[in-house]
Amino acid sequence: MTQTVSGLEFKQQLSDHAKSAQERAAVLADPGFGNHFTDHTAVVDYSVDADGHGSWKNARIEPYGPIQLDPAAAVLHYGQEIFEGLKAYRHADGSVWTFRPEANAARLNRSAARLALPQLPEQVFLEAVRELVNVDKDWVPDGDGESLYLRPFMIATEAFLGVRPAREVSFRVIASPAGNYFGGELKPVSIWISHNYARAGQGGTGAAKCGGNYAASLAPQLEAEANGCKQVLFLDPHNDDAVEELGGMNVFFVFRDGRLVTPALSGTILEGVTRSSILELGRERGMDVQERKITLDEWRSGIASGEISEVFACGTAAVITPIGILKDEHETIGSADAVPGEVSMSIREQLLGIQTGVVADTHGWMTRLA
Ligand SMILES: *Cc1c(COP(=O)(O)O)cnc(C)c1O
Repeated sequence: MTQTVSGLEFKQQLSDHAKSAQERAAVLADPGFGNHFTDHTAVVDYSVDADGHGSWKNARIEPYGPIQLDPAAAVLHYGQEIFEGLKAYRHADGSVWTFRPEANAARLNRSAARLALPQLPEQVFLEAVRELVNVDKDWVPDGDGESLYLRPFMIATEAFLGVRPAREVSFRVIASPAGNYFGGELKPVSIWISHNYARAGQGGTGAAKCGGNYAASLAPQLEAEANGCKQVLFLDPHNDDAVEELGGMNVFFVFRDGRLVTPALSGTILEGVTRSSILELGRERGMDVQERKITLDEWRSGIASGEISEVFACGTAAVITPIGILKDEHETIGSADAVPGEVSMSIREQLLGIQTGVVADTHGWMTRLA
């Protein structure tokens, strides 16, 4: 049992079927993304008592495995679910670090507020991550571009079919070793413009990191794939063709004159931790950083005139991905043989360098976990 600053104690029930060192090594030799999970999971339960007072309790590390859930659990019916994504990196001296976890903890609570889920003290979020990574630290890979992807999530577990916020909730963290997202080679991706589907509506859940947004992105994603594209670009819900973001990544434009532009947070865009970090790095580089409305028209004419020199997507999983072409039924913007842009790659290297410990962390962004 570990005493923590939040006052919650994480009880440890270690797995009696943990993978052997040999089995683990086989997984770590080629982890891929999201296929394999570590031996344990962190769990904290929440419930509301008869006086209407809610509290977090039963903090624990338990063996990874299926969740016992009542078939009437609210999450299965009304989708009351939110999640986060962050990574743990092994540095050269063997220590394990993560990037801006307090930003993920704060965002989880913003998502919780929108989905009428309870607020989780940020310390509990950080402790759950720390406890899990410590018990499963041998799962943190050390190869180039590799990490342990951490997936905190919160679900409504109460068995009740009435429509109201659940009074029983569970917060969990699972961990999955992740390989180099691009197998070493970074190729610009092609993006499909979704005209038939929106990702979010004004006042909806677009700014929350919830599973429902991802469920809604799958049909447009299929449409993209059917048209030979890797990802979907969503436009704003007002039909004035302002760029919003991809299904799970924010978008940036590099202008030849040194402007770095990303769509302003409008309530329908997810505020990425990678996005806000890139904004800060851009400012430090002396770029003219702008969060504003940018339309498909400006994208089209900027590429045609050469004023826009690079476009990239960003998020925790892939860090920075150059965007090569953008297309729909009527047009193709950009070129299929585009090469990754210089500025995109330089920011990517800096950010990844900070995360992996080869570039000094002058922002206090890194937190040691093990
Ligand atoms: C998670 C997510 C992002 C990227 O956020 P990061 O914190 O940078 O990983 C962007 N858009 C959506 C819709 C997301 O869910």
